[in-house]
Amino acid sequence: MSVQTENGPAPQTKAERLVEVPNVDAYSTNFYFDLAVEGQTFSAQMTVRGGANGLDHIQRVQGAMKEIVQRGGAARTRNKAEAAPAQAGLEWGKSKRGRTVLILREGQPEPDNVPCPVHDGKTFRRKTNEDGSWLSHKDGDTFCTAGFEKRP
Ligand SMILES: [Zn+2]
Repeated sequence: MSVQTENGPAPQTKAERLVEVPNVDAYSTNFYFDLAVEGQTFSAQMTVRGGANGLDHIQRVQGAMKEIVQRGGAARTRNKAEAAPAQAGLEWGKSKRGRTVLILREGQPEPDNVPCPVHDGKTFRRKTNEDGSWLSHKDGDTFCTAGFEKRP
Protein backbone atom coordinates (compact mmCIF):
# COMPACT_ATOMS: atom_id res chain seq x y z
CA MET A 1 0.00 0.00 0.00
CA SER A 2 1.22 3.46 -0.76
CA VAL A 3 0.04 6.82 0.43
CA GLN A 4 0.04 9.49 -2.16
CA THR A 5 1.01 12.89 -0.83
CA GLU A 6 0.12 16.07 -2.60
CA ASN A 7 1.59 19.44 -1.96
CA GLY A 8 -0.46 22.59 -1.93
CA PRO A 9 -4.02 23.17 -0.87
CA ALA A 10 -6.45 20.31 -1.03
CA PRO A 11 -8.87 20.52 -3.92
CA GLN A 12 -11.96 22.35 -2.84
CA THR A 13 -15.37 20.86 -3.03
CA LYS A 14 -18.13 22.73 -4.76
CA ALA A 15 -19.71 23.71 -1.44
CA GLU A 16 -16.50 25.20 -0.08
CA ARG A 17 -16.11 27.42 -3.09
CA LEU A 18 -19.42 29.11 -2.43
CA VAL A 19 -19.11 32.30 -0.48
CA GLU A 20 -21.46 32.03 2.47
CA VAL A 21 -23.56 35.11 2.98
CA PRO A 22 -25.31 34.74 6.31
CA ASN A 23 -28.98 35.47 6.06
CA VAL A 24 -29.59 37.01 9.48
CA ASP A 25 -33.33 36.75 9.03
CA ALA A 26 -33.18 33.02 8.45
CA TYR A 27 -32.73 32.22 12.14
CA SER A 28 -35.06 33.54 14.79
CA THR A 29 -36.03 31.94 18.10
CA ASN A 30 -38.52 33.14 20.70
CA PHE A 31 -38.50 31.87 24.22
CA TYR A 32 -40.34 32.78 27.39
CA PHE A 33 -39.11 33.19 30.92
CA ASP A 34 -40.02 34.56 34.32
CA LEU A 35 -37.55 36.85 35.99
CA ALA A 36 -37.90 38.25 39.50
CA VAL A 37 -36.68 41.82 39.91
CA GLU A 38 -36.88 43.43 43.34
CA GLY A 39 -39.73 41.22 44.46
CA GLN A 40 -41.74 41.46 41.25
CA THR A 41 -41.87 38.57 38.82
CA PHE A 42 -41.89 39.62 35.19
CA SER A 43 -43.06 37.32 32.44
CA ALA A 44 -40.79 38.10 29.56
CA GLN A 45 -40.16 37.01 26.01
CA MET A 46 -36.82 37.15 24.26
CA THR A 47 -36.15 36.91 20.55
CA VAL A 48 -32.72 35.85 19.37
CA ARG A 49 -32.01 36.51 15.71
CA GLY A 50 -29.12 35.74 13.44
CA GLY A 51 -26.26 33.32 13.23
CA ALA A 52 -23.84 32.15 10.58
CA ASN A 53 -25.69 28.86 10.46
CA GLY A 54 -28.20 26.83 12.43
CA LEU A 55 -25.68 25.60 14.98
CA ASP A 56 -24.29 29.09 15.55
CA HIS A 57 -27.82 30.38 16.03
CA ILE A 58 -28.72 27.68 18.59
CA GLN A 59 -25.52 28.43 20.49
CA ARG A 60 -26.55 32.09 20.67
CA VAL A 61 -29.99 31.08 21.94
CA GLN A 62 -28.50 28.77 24.57
CA GLY A 63 -26.07 31.52 25.61
CA ALA A 64 -28.95 33.94 26.14
CA MET A 65 -30.91 31.33 28.13
CA LYS A 66 -27.88 30.64 30.31
CA GLU A 67 -27.49 34.35 31.11
CA ILE A 68 -31.13 34.51 32.21
CA VAL A 69 -30.88 31.41 34.41
CA GLN A 70 -27.70 32.76 36.02
CA ARG A 71 -29.67 35.89 36.96
CA GLY A 72 -32.33 33.79 38.69
CA GLY A 73 -34.73 33.52 35.78
CA ALA A 74 -36.81 30.44 35.11
CA ALA A 75 -38.02 28.88 31.92
CA ARG A 76 -41.71 29.30 31.28
CA THR A 77 -43.79 26.99 29.17
CA ARG A 78 -46.77 28.31 27.29
CA ASN A 79 -49.02 25.92 29.17
CA LYS A 80 -49.35 27.42 32.65
CA ALA A 81 -50.48 24.12 34.14
CA GLU A 82 -47.09 22.65 33.36
CA ALA A 83 -45.13 25.73 34.29
CA ALA A 84 -42.92 25.73 37.33
CA PRO A 85 -44.07 27.88 40.24
CA ALA A 86 -43.25 31.49 39.50
CA GLN A 87 -41.64 31.95 42.88
CA ALA A 88 -39.56 29.33 44.60
CA GLY A 89 -40.61 28.36 48.08
CA LEU A 90 -44.32 28.89 47.53
CA GLU A 91 -46.45 25.84 48.00
CA TRP A 92 -49.97 25.98 46.57
CA GLY A 93 -52.64 23.43 47.24
CA LYS A 94 -56.37 22.90 47.61
CA SER A 95 -58.33 23.11 50.82
CA LYS A 96 -60.86 20.41 51.73
CA ARG A 97 -63.52 22.62 50.16
CA GLY A 98 -61.54 22.90 46.94
CA ARG A 99 -60.34 26.42 47.47
CA THR A 100 -56.85 27.41 46.32
CA VAL A 101 -54.65 27.80 49.36
CA LEU A 102 -51.12 28.91 50.02
CA ILE A 103 -49.68 26.25 52.28
CA LEU A 104 -47.68 27.64 55.16
CA ARG A 105 -45.35 25.28 56.93
CA GLU A 106 -44.70 25.63 60.63
CA GLY A 107 -43.33 29.07 61.45
CA GLN A 108 -43.77 30.39 57.89
CA PRO A 109 -45.36 33.85 58.02
CA GLU A 110 -48.28 34.93 55.83
CA PRO A 111 -46.74 36.96 53.00
CA ASP A 112 -48.14 40.43 52.22
CA ASN A 113 -47.98 39.83 48.48
CA VAL A 114 -47.26 36.84 46.28
CA PRO A 115 -47.68 36.15 42.56
CA CYS A 116 -51.00 34.50 41.70
CA PRO A 117 -50.35 30.93 40.51
CA VAL A 118 -53.28 31.11 38.09
CA HIS A 119 -53.15 34.58 36.56
CA ASP A 120 -49.94 35.50 34.82
CA GLY A 121 -48.48 38.76 36.10
CA LYS A 122 -51.10 39.28 38.84
CA THR A 123 -50.07 39.70 42.43
CA PHE A 124 -52.11 38.57 45.42
CA ARG A 125 -52.27 40.96 48.35
CA ARG A 126 -52.97 39.87 51.88
CA LYS A 127 -56.31 41.02 53.29
CA THR A 128 -57.56 40.73 56.83
CA ASN A 129 -60.80 41.14 58.71
CA GLU A 130 -62.24 39.82 61.98
CA ASP A 131 -62.69 36.38 60.38
CA GLY A 132 -59.07 35.99 59.45
CA SER A 133 -56.79 36.61 56.52
CA TRP A 134 -56.69 35.68 52.85
CA LEU A 135 -55.14 36.62 49.53
CA SER A 136 -56.91 38.61 46.84
CA HIS A 137 -56.35 40.41 43.57
CA LYS A 138 -58.72 42.08 41.15
CA ASP A 139 -59.64 40.00 38.11
CA GLY A 140 -61.74 42.10 35.80
CA ASP A 141 -64.96 42.91 37.64
CA THR A 142 -64.44 40.23 40.26
CA PHE A 143 -61.73 39.15 42.63
CA CYS A 144 -59.50 36.12 42.51
CA THR A 145 -58.86 34.85 46.02
CA ALA A 146 -56.90 32.20 47.84
CA GLY A 147 -56.69 31.17 51.46
CA PHE A 148 -53.92 30.27 53.82
CA GLU A 149 -53.57 26.79 55.18
CA LYS A 150 -51.17 26.01 57.96
CA ARG A 151 -49.68 22.55 57.79
CA PRO A 152 -47.01 20.97 59.92
ZN1 LIG B 1 -55.54 35.03 40.27
